[in-house]
Amino acid sequence: MTVHIGDLRLRDERAARFLASGTKKLLIGGEWVAARSGETFETSDPATGEVLAEIARGGNADVADAVAAARSAFTSPEWRGMTPNDRAALLWRIADLIEQNADQLAQLETLDQGKAWRTGRLGEIPSAINNFRYYAGWATKLLGETIPTSLRRQPPGKQVFAYTTREPVGVVAAIVPWNSPLLMAAMKLAPALAAGCTVVLKPAENTPLSALRLGELMLEAGMPKGVVNIVTGYGSEAGQALADHPGVDKVAFTGSTAVGKRLLTAATGNLKRLTLELGGKSPSIVLPDADLDLVIPGVSGGIFDNGGQVCVASARIYAHRDVYDRLVAGMADYGRKLRLGHGLDPEADLGPLVSVAQAERVEQFIEEGKAAGVEVVTGGHRDGERGTFYEPTVLTGVAQDMRLMKEEIFGPVATVTPFDDVEEVIGWANDSVYGLAASVWTEGLSNAHRVAARIQAGTVWINCHSYLGVELPKGGFKQSGWGTENGAQGLENYLETKTVVAVI
Ligand code: NDP
Repeated sequence: MTVHIGDLRLRDERAARFLASGTKKLLIGGEWVAARSGETFETSDPATGEVLAEIARGGNADVADAVAAARSAFTSPEWRGMTPNDRAALLWRIADLIEQNADQLAQLETLDQGKAWRTGRLGEIPSAINNFRYYAGWATKLLGETIPTSLRRQPPGKQVFAYTTREPVGVVAAIVPWNSPLLMAAMKLAPALAAGCTVVLKPAENTPLSALRLGELMLEAGMPKGVVNIVTGYGSEAGQALADHPGVDKVAFTGSTAVGKRLLTAATGNLKRLTLELGGKSPSIVLPDADLDLVIPGVSGGIFDNGGQVCVASARIYAHRDVYDRLVAGMADYGRKLRLGHGLDPEADLGPLVSVAQAERVEQFIEEGKAAGVEVVTGGHRDGERGTFYEPTVLTGVAQDMRLMKEEIFGPVATVTPFDDVEEVIGWANDSVYGLAASVWTEGLSNAHRVAARIQAGTVWINCHSYLGVELPKGGFKQSGWGTENGAQGLENYLETKTVVAVI
C-alpha cells in the first residue's frame, strides 16, 4: 500500500494565520503568557514531521498561577454574578464560534493529530458544538428539592423547612488525551461551565493546537478572566502538577488506565473528586442471524475509523462460525479499500497515527502476534516516510490469553474469532479488565437484549457501534473508569449537593 500525501496547501487561511502567529502561550487569568521557565516544545504533523508550532512548556509554577487564577475567578463577581441564563448564553456563543470556525479547527486537528479531515469536520467538531449547546440548556435547570422531614426537635409552634441546592464543585482540572482533542476538551468544559465551575485545561502534549484556538474563541465569546485557563506541557510535569495541586477540587480525566491509576494517589492529598474515562478493549458479538451488510461496515468502521485511536473501538470481534468466514473476508476487503493519506487530502480515509511512538507500539503488538502464529489476513505494516501510517489490519487465530486480545492497542487492528456457543462468547467478551463498550449484532430482538444485559460494559450497542452523543451517558465498568460523562449524569460530576435545614 502506498501512502499518498497529496496537496497539503491549507484550505482555510485562518488556520495558516494561527500557526504563523508565533509561539503558542498559556492562557492564565485571561492573558496569554509564556511559561515562567521560558521553555517551549514543538508540536508537529505526524504525517510529515513538519514542525507546526512552538508551544509553551508549562510546569509547576505555571500550574500554580493557573489554579490561583481559576480559584480567584470562581468567587469573582464577574463569574458568580452571572445568572444561569447568562452562563447558558455564554456556552451557546462558544458553540456558535466553534461552528463559524469549524473548517479551521478541523484543519488544526488534522495537522496536529493526523486524523482524516472529514473525521474532524463532519464528526468530532459538530459533536464538540453539540456539547456546548446541550449543556447550555442544563445551566438553567440545576434544581434542588424541598424535603419533607420527620424531625421533631423544633420548639413548639415552629416547623422544619429543608431543601437542597446544587453548587459547583469548584476548580476543575480537565486532563485530556490526543485521539479526539477538541471533542475531549469540550466534553469536560461544557458541563463544568454549565455547573458554574472554573477550569484549568491540560491538553495532550501531542495535540495542543485546537485547545489553544478554543481558548481564543472562549475569550471572544466573553468568558470572564480566569474562568478557563489552559496549561500546555508534558503529562509528567504540567499534568502531574495539576493532579497534585491542593487548590484543585476535582480532576476530570480522560486517558489511559495506567495514568488514571496514578491520579488516585495524586487525589488523596485533598481528597479531590475524580472522574476517570479510561481505556477499553471492546467486544463485538456477531450472532448467526446478523445482517452482514450492516455488520461489515459497522464493525470495520468501529475499529478502523481514526486509525483505531478510539477508546470504544471494536477491537475484539467474535463471529458465529456460520458467518465467520464471510465476516473475515468482508472486513479484510473493507480494510484494503481504505485509502491512507495525509488527513488534509480529501481522498484520504485514514491519516497517520498520532506519532512515531504510537506506530511503533502498534507494530510491536503485531510482530509479537506473528511470532506466536497469528494469521494476518490483511494489513500488518507501517507505511509512509516516517512510518507513522498503519494499514487497517485483520488478525485471526488470536488466543484469548494473548496480549493482542487483552491489551488496548489503540491502532487499526481487529482480532476476529469464531464461536459456536452464545454462553461461551459472553464469557470471552467479559473476560477483560476493561468494560467500556460492546456491540451485539443480530436480527433477533430477544437475543439482542438478552445478550446486551449480560455484557459488562458501560455502553452496549445493538446493530451499530460507536454511536455516541452528548445526551447518551458514557462511562466505563471495571478498569475502564469511574463516573459517567454526557447527559444529565455528566453534569453531576461538577456539582455538590448542599442540604439546608431551617427552623422557621
Ligand atoms: P494518557 O493517559 O497517556 O494521557 C492522557 C492525558 O494525561 C494527557 O494529557 C497526558 O499528557 C496526561 N498525563 C500523562 N501523564 C500524566 C500524569 N502523571 N499526571 C497527570 N496527567 C498526565 O493517554 P493518551 O493521551 O495516550 O490517550 C489514549 C488513552 O485515552 C487510551 O487509553 C484511550 O482508551 C483513552 N481514552 C478514553 C476515552 C474514554 O472516554 N474512556 C476516550 C478517549 C481516550 P501528555 O500527553 O502530555 O503525556
